[in-house]
Amino acid sequence: MDLSIVIPLFNEEESLPELAAWIRRVMEVHHYSYEVIMVDDGSTDASWDVVENLRKENAFIKGIRFQRNYGKSAALNEGFKAAQGEVIITMDADMQDSPDEIPELRKMIVEDGYDMVSGWKKVRFDNTFKKNIPSKLFNAAARRTSGIQLNDFNCGLKSYRRKVVKSIEVYGEMHRYIPILAKWAGFRKIGEKVVEHRARKYGITKFGWERFVNGFLDLFSIMFVGKFGKRPMHFFGLWGTFAFLFGLIIFVYLTITKFFFDQTGLTQRPMFFFAIMLMIIGSQLFLAGFIGELIARNSTERNNYLVEEKLGL
Ligand code: UDP
Ligand code: MG
Repeated sequence: MDLSIVIPLFNEEESLPELAAWIRRVMEVHHYSYEVIMVDDGSTDASWDVVENLRKENAFIKGIRFQRNYGKSAALNEGFKAAQGEVIITMDADMQDSPDEIPELRKMIVEDGYDMVSGWKKVRFDNTFKKNIPSKLFNAAARRTSGIQLNDFNCGLKSYRRKVVKSIEVYGEMHRYIPILAKWAGFRKIGEKVVEHRARKYGITKFGWERFVNGFLDLFSIMFVGKFGKRPMHFFGLWGTFAFLFGLIIFVYLTITKFFFDQTGLTQRPMFFFAIMLMIIGSQLFLAGFIGELIARNSTERNNYLVEEKLGL
């Protein structure tokens, strides 16, 4: 199968028929063998009925329905698990992404050798202040911390080599950082393509202003987990040692001033409390490190590396 198109959707009943028809046109023009996996993320409108009806007309359409709303990441993850195509395309259900981009996105994977290609909504049709400016900041932060040179991490329209989606797990709200997940999993050829962005025709956006706060918090988590997830002691131990040693040095200094320079009232000095605080924080960090190591040791992911090739085995 050439293509799997994964579409997460939450209350998008009006858009689905038009979107399905448009995708079908593109697929038929290019003679692709394909499947469209519509993942209904617990919609409360008639979206699932629409999916069922669409399948009656076109057997290439498949559906997964969640019991309740779990979020876009969960929907994508479930779609990735089911996908059978050689190339996987994700796109939003609200028709803000154009199916006409699919052939080029596929070509970049199959012919140009990219592992994943992310869309770039260079010209956006969203509210400038509510979205465009925070999104610029957010992308700059993601670029700096991850080292991946993308302009638009969170674009819903992306294409992947099959191996990529089968080796990453998108959880929480990590759909914003799939390029980073892919990089951590060892996929280095991450490309970008300018894509057409359209105004939302039906329905409303499903993400409010919290997206930016959450987005930044998630960026911290993902960078931390990626870097220290399998060796937490290297993080906590380092800072714990620093804090503890710094506190100890202050103590030694205070002791010297007492015994050799006859200073009194040691325990009245702010420095005394500062030293105690540092030593306590230092040992706490160490403890956090040990607990982190215990958790990492029990994690099912502790050894899920990807073997690229083997010789003579
Ligand atoms: N979506 C989803 N589950 C959610 C929220 C959103 O599956 O909990 C889908 C939504 O239906 C759409 C895509 O994710 O297909 C992007 O959402 P939206 O268009 O609201 O985001 P925006 O374009 O405003 O960034
Ligand atoms: Mg949208």
